[in-house]
Parts: sequence; structure tokens; C-alpha cells
Amino acid sequence: MVDYHTHTRLCKHGEGEVEEYVLKAIERGLDEIGCSEHMPMPDEFDLRHRMSLEEYYSIYAPAVSGVAERYKDRITVRRGLEAEFLPGYERWIENFIKENDFDYVIGSVHFLGTKGNVKPLFHVEYSEEAIEELHVEYFEAIRQSAFCRQYDIIGHCDLIKKFGVRSSKRIEEARWEALKAIKEADVCVEINTSGWRKPEQDTYPGIDVLELVHKLRIPLTLGSDAHKPEQVAMGYERVGELLDRFGSGRYSVFQKRQRSELTLLKSTTAC
Ligand SMILES: [Zn+2]
Ligand SMILES: [Zn+2]
Repeated sequence: MVDYHTHTRLCKHGEGEVEEYVLKAIERGLDEIGCSEHMPMPDEFDLRHRMSLEEYYSIYAPAVSGVAERYKDRITVRRGLEAEFLPGYERWIENFIKENDFDYVIGSVHFLGTKGNVKPLFHVEYSEEAIEELHVEYFEAIRQSAFCRQYDIIGHCDLIKKFGVRSSKRIEEARWEALKAIKEADVCVEINTSGWRKPEQDTYPGIDVLELVHKLRIPLTLGSDAHKPEQVAMGYERVGELLDRFGSGRYSVFQKRQRSELTLLKSTTAC
């Protein structure tokens, strides 16, 4: 098993060092762990939830390389990133990804809107009337994030349900278009188990979206979105069942941005 979505103290809302996450992954018997801290952004954008560019190059990147080497006989450490999708910053994000030798890049929508006019999806409340529109906007952003072809994995692809699950014809259409784009762009969806630690008590995406993911044969991968070392692989005792049901027991792994698929029995086939 792999855990491709982990953070550290550097994002300022997490705890622990890269090494502690890797040690926890070894203890939990994982084959691979991916280090995917929130990406640095320019203009001090949302600096309170991420490291600076300087910290990335002086602390995080060397820490990941260091543990990859130090523990290579016990676990494979992948160099990942949780990148933003935010119109207006595409060029900067593309250059940052190009400059670094990632094994995979997760594309996540944490903000709606565009540069200079963003609506955050954290630490805010929206009025009841705004929530349907937010769902539609969110899935439209997910659709665009798949088409921009910067990302290998779409992160927590129904995160918007944190504001309350809503269903309407417009939301369902926007969600379906987003999933079709993910399929067409040949990117992967993560089963993010962090929702089991939150009031939603549901993975991202939940069963309703996983059914559509399965229908479209979108490849899956796994992540805990751990923000503390003890959260590595959290919920994995239940995740195998979801992989069996919605991914035919297969999950994707990445090396230098090349995807291959493994089955839960660990036989490997190239995609
Ligand atoms: Zn985070
Ligand atoms: Zn995220």
C-alpha cells in the first residue's frame, strides 16, 4: 500500500518532520510514502498555510531527498507536491513544477475564483443560498484543473461537501463534466481518507462520486492527507474494500511522473 498525501509542520497547520512520517509509514508496513507538502506560492499568497519558496528549497526538498536515501532499504519515498489550481497563477505553478524533479503532483482546489479575487474553502462560512453555486463553481474548477494537464492526481475531488452535501441538476452536471475531464486528461483520483477524521465521516470522494469514477474507469490512488505523523495510512484498514469495489483492486503509483498500476496483491503492470 502507498500513502501519497502527507504534510509536515512546514505548512503551519501540520505537525512533525518528514522523517517522522516516513518512520510511521515503515511501522505501518507501507511500500511507499509520498511527501506532498502544500506548494509555496508567490506574492506571499496564503502564506499562513504553506511554506515559503525559501523554506521549500532550504528545508523541505533536502529533507525529502535525505530520508529517501536514508530509508531506501526499508521503504520507497516519493517526491510529491500538493499544488494549487488557481487561475492567474498557472504560469508560476507550471514553472515551479518544471523546476523540480517530482515523482507526482497532486492538483487541489482550495480556493475558488481567480488571482486577486479568491474565495477560500477553509476557515470561512458561506450563506445557505451561496452553497449550491459554490458546488457548481468547485466542480468547474476541478474540470479545469484536469484539463490544464499540470497534475497527475486530482486531490480530494469532492471537498466542497464539507459545506454540506447538496444535490441538484446543475451540481450533478458540473460534477459529471469534471469527472469526464479527469478521464479524458488521463489523470488519477485519490481516495483521500482524511474525511473519516472529520465531521463528514466520508472519504473524498465519497461513494456517490466513486461510483461515477468506477463507471468511467478513472484510475485511483491513495492518500491519508496526514497532517500529523500518526495519521499516516489512517483508515487504510477500510480502504481496501473501496479499492476493490471502485478500482477493481488496482491503484496507481508514480515514479518521475510515470504512472503504473499495482493490484492489492502487488503484481505490477505498466499502464
Ligand atoms: Zn493542509
Ligand atoms: Zn488539500
